[in-house]
Amino acid sequence: MVILIKKRGCKRDRRGKMKEELSREVQVANWINSVDKVVVFTGAGVSTESGIPDFRSPGGLWDRYDPNDFLYQKIISSEESRKKYWKMHSELYYIIIEAEPNPSHYALVDLDKMGKLDCLITQNIDNLHQKAGLDENKILELHGNTMKVACLSCHNSYTRKEIQEWLENGIEVPCCEKCKGILKPTTIAFGQSMPVRETEEAERKSRNCELFIAMGSSLVVHPAALMPLYAKEGGARLVIINLTPTPYDGQADLVISGKAGEVFPEILATVK
Ligand SMILES: [Zn+2]
Repeated sequence: MVILIKKRGCKRDRRGKMKEELSREVQVANWINSVDKVVVFTGAGVSTESGIPDFRSPGGLWDRYDPNDFLYQKIISSEESRKKYWKMHSELYYIIIEAEPNPSHYALVDLDKMGKLDCLITQNIDNLHQKAGLDENKILELHGNTMKVACLSCHNSYTRKEIQEWLENGIEVPCCEKCKGILKPTTIAFGQSMPVRETEEAERKSRNCELFIAMGSSLVVHPAALMPLYAKEGGARLVIINLTPTPYDGQADLVISGKAGEVFPEILATVK
């Protein structure tokens, strides 16, 4: 372990970071070594590191589309809203399929291979954890997945690729082939209720884990942001990796300020 500390210390020194930060990464690695059930939570920061822009940033999707057009009630009641909704998703589709997983996505796959990952809870909708090769059964998507489409009536599912072909063939508002019901990506629209199974399971997993690592999330969007609290209530250690402070920093056992794609792989390298 001492050798690892020295080795990684040199690397950190080159990047001009403090050795104190290094010891934090080693500390998290030691905690991972000492437990069996780690729950990891990923937020938008993990996606932006893969080049997926924040919709709210200048030039982002919400500059060109009005989020008020995409309230769930409007989507289900107005064909015109659905037309705009699918136009927006058509743009989003290409952003998503061109994005590649970053080192934090792959480090999570490594954590799973070590037998340590109980589950991944994510707010991200971009399918990048799957694209990196993480076991689908380990992923709880609180805000859905833009690459999955389902009928709101009969729940028949479609691949997003298939629907994109329809859109490009001139179908502006895709309908279910089986029942003519409304098709919608499984992402959670404004005003739509959270997915019950995923939300309940995420709470249960958070309460039962031994170590909870939140990364790339400012932990402000509820109920997702409650998961670290559940973990603490259940007696787990809480680690937060984020570029900016979060409301839960004071309750965390350890906070590392930085990019998930840089910090998390270094932690995993130390575990190995
Ligand atoms: Zn249907």
